[in-house]
Amino acid sequence: MSCAVLSVGSNMGDRLQHLRSVAESLGARVVSRSSVYVTAPWGDTDQEDFYNTILIAECPTWDMWSWLEFAQRCERRAERVRERHWGPRTLDVDIVSCSDAGEQLTSSDPKLTLPHPRAHERAFVLVPWLEAEPAATLLGVPLSEHLDALPRGERAGVRRLDDQAEWFV
Ligand code: ADP
Ligand code: MG
Repeated sequence: MSCAVLSVGSNMGDRLQHLRSVAESLGARVVSRSSVYVTAPWGDTDQEDFYNTILIAECPTWDMWSWLEFAQRCERRAERVRERHWGPRTLDVDIVSCSDAGEQLTSSDPKLTLPHPRAHERAFVLVPWLEAEPAATLLGVPLSEHLDALPRGERAGVRRLDDQAEWFV
């Protein structure tokens, strides 16, 4: 049995629907999920706020490459509704961490680096992951410690979406 922590983000189009499409494709494989969080984009103010969530899923037959293929399949499907060519992305699905038979997997392959090399410095990954899996560790360190190490304000910049009704269906 492999287990993957998926970070799912969207800042274009029907953002909730893009996040929901991933949860729906996973179906019964989802074992835990966070609320949806809203984060202002860096720099370019011509972009919508990001919606981010964490989905934790299990599968008896998939290995880490299967999770990447799944993520890329979801992204390709969402690309079909892309409105402008160089615009912000409809959907980004990253494998934050992956375990097999309870063992954390590590990989330095640029096509699939595990755990995700920037996860520990991204509040929009850590905040929802902590909600979905309070006891989780990353690189052997509890998620709350990674959050405490972030620059001031970073964590506060990630706020829970007010209306979760459409997400938790
Ligand atoms: P980013 O997520 O960094 O904004 P992309 O979504 O465009 O950028 O991903 C770029 C490449 O990162 C993908 O082609 C993928 O093969 C690679 N990659 C490496 N490690 C991972 C991972 N843990 N999860 C998802 N993609 C990864
Ligand atoms: Mg990505």
